[in-house]
Amino acid sequence: MKRTAILFDIDGTLLYARGVGRAAFGSAFEGAYGRPYPDVAGLTFVGATDTAVVRDMAAACGLASTPAQEEHFFSLLSRQIEDALAQSRPHLYPGVPELTASLRRRGHTLGLVTGNVRATAWSKLRHAGLDRAFEFGAYGDDHPLRPEIARLSIARCPPDARPRVLVGDTPLDVQAARANGLAAVAVATGWVEAAELEAAGADLVLPDFSDTDTCIARIEALFAAGAPQ
Ligand SMILES: [Mg+2]
Repeated sequence: MKRTAILFDIDGTLLYARGVGRAAFGSAFEGAYGRPYPDVAGLTFVGATDTAVVRDMAAACGLASTPAQEEHFFSLLSRQIEDALAQSRPHLYPGVPELTASLRRRGHTLGLVTGNVRATAWSKLRHAGLDRAFEFGAYGDDHPLRPEIARLSIARCPPDARPRVLVGDTPLDVQAARANGLAAVAVATGWVEAAELEAAGADLVLPDFSDTDTCIARIEALFAAGAPQ
């Protein structure tokens, strides 16, 4: 029988990177596109993907966004975020280390579905002490749309595992789960209220992961024998 793979979003779900991304987006944009972005404070990151954000920034400045500029931008962005996180480690939400360790002890494999570009995703996880918990993933530099990032993560899942659940903190994570036939678990530690996550159609909404045993029982019930596929 295959192992179960559980996919996780990063920001708002596992950790909060203390806002280091916003400043880094501003300076990396200026470096890669050659002009300052006028409204860094107005950028929206909740549930967003890094590719979509930088393309919107370029469009708002009336600039084309070439693949080369985007790669340059991501390289500058990830370096700045790495430096900032070395000074100020991410805040881990309650129960996250216990939940991920316990899911792995129970034989499940964990993957990533994140809007962060690859280097930034691993930077955040490493500075939070979570990098060894995850076996595979797909990232914000793979695709601008989250359902497509989820599809890619599923394609990268180890062959002895079957992806069943996606855990996130926004309605966009719920949509990405739905689009790929995964159960949607939503956690209200991020910037979206539990009622909104329920309205978005999440199969399970948790306030946080502080009660590890209850969280695991409720997540496993989503893919237990007899549970809807
Ligand atoms: Mg998130």
